[in-house]
Amino acid sequence: MTTLLVEDIGLLVHGDRAIAPVRDTTLVIEDGVIAEIGASAVAPDQVLSAGGLTVMPGLIDGHVHPTFGEWTPAQDAIGWIHNYLHGGTTSMVSAGELHIPGLAFDALTPELVLSIAITSKHTTGRMRPSGVKVNAGTVLLVPGMTEEHFDRAQREEIDQLKFIFYDWNRLGDGEAQRYVQWAHDRGMMVKMHSGGVSRSGSSRVAGADVVLAVQPDIVGHISGGPIPAPDADIAAIIAGLPDTNVEVCSSNNYRATKVVADELMLRGMLDRLTLGTDTPGGTGVIPRGMLRNICYLASVCGVDPVSAVAAATGQTARAHGLPTGVIAEGMPADLLVLGPISGSTARDGLESFALGDLPGIATVLVDGVPLVASRSEQTPPPSRSVTWRGADVRREAPRPAPVGAGATGCC
Ligand SMILES: [Zn+2]
Repeated sequence: MTTLLVEDIGLLVHGDRAIAPVRDTTLVIEDGVIAEIGASAVAPDQVLSAGGLTVMPGLIDGHVHPTFGEWTPAQDAIGWIHNYLHGGTTSMVSAGELHIPGLAFDALTPELVLSIAITSKHTTGRMRPSGVKVNAGTVLLVPGMTEEHFDRAQREEIDQLKFIFYDWNRLGDGEAQRYVQWAHDRGMMVKMHSGGVSRSGSSRVAGADVVLAVQPDIVGHISGGPIPAPDADIAAIIAGLPDTNVEVCSSNNYRATKVVADELMLRGMLDRLTLGTDTPGGTGVIPRGMLRNICYLASVCGVDPVSAVAAATGQTARAHGLPTGVIAEGMPADLLVLGPISGSTARDGLESFALGDLPGIATVLVDGVPLVASRSEQTPPPSRSVTWRGADVRREAPRPAPVGAGATGCC
């Protein structure tokens, strides 16, 4: 068994808004799993001194659009997942592999969408690009699917489904509601594109009338991706589906996000808020997107920073059925060590978020492994440093090789 002791934690934020942050504490990690909080380890194999910085769960980006591995044709870029890791993202959930070149959104068939999802699940979804946990293989729901399609998806361990190109003129025939029921019968989550047309030009407009009729598990980018439903529709969705999670993405309309935050706070429902970037896409490739989401909610929208962090971590993980996102015994040690950047007046990570100051990331752990050991490539360094003791700590994720490099056996 390998034991990692994280000591000199200035502030521990659990990723659960019901748990108050703890100051001046420690964490014991055994074989990549959080074993104890506030305890000391006897003769640990490794020690990470957090230098008084803030420790919180790794960020869960609940809305990404992977294509294959770390390549995204959406912005002609490679290596984007590596960069998101350095922005603090340790898990991400596909909202559909819809950027595959040549994919005709107006000619999607049940066989095609299922094939894409299965292929993604068994390629990008199994390789952990740059060490990030990527839940890829999300079925883009189209008319004409049968229960057998859902059975096949379940056999392939697909657990995310998405309405985006579905023809809402068919809403009255009950097929979409049947899909939601079939999904729930198999333990799958249903997300739904809400609001206006996306970059594809082919997504269907979905306001309150459609969302309330379908009742998805997660209302995708409720404040815009990039165009939100009208304010009255946002309020009607939040009020009409009290058990449904609502998602805010970096592709948002900032004004509408404030409307969403106000509605949730008014109703005492901030625990329904989940976050994502909705990237890569027309909004770009945004390695610091999730950090900026937290900053915006906490500094402009009046969301307390503990709740904003919970939305970006534990709540987004729970909404998608991911076993991560909170710091608790028995959970994987997917963690960030971060803190204020020199020049900020903040004293800890939460104050940075509350001020809207981007925090600096020192360390990113996934399953207790330091994929970023002491300095993010994507943020300025925090004003205080971490130090490592013990063997075998330099296991940072290498930058992905160029396409084709390292391939064997052909060409
Ligand atoms: Zn999207």
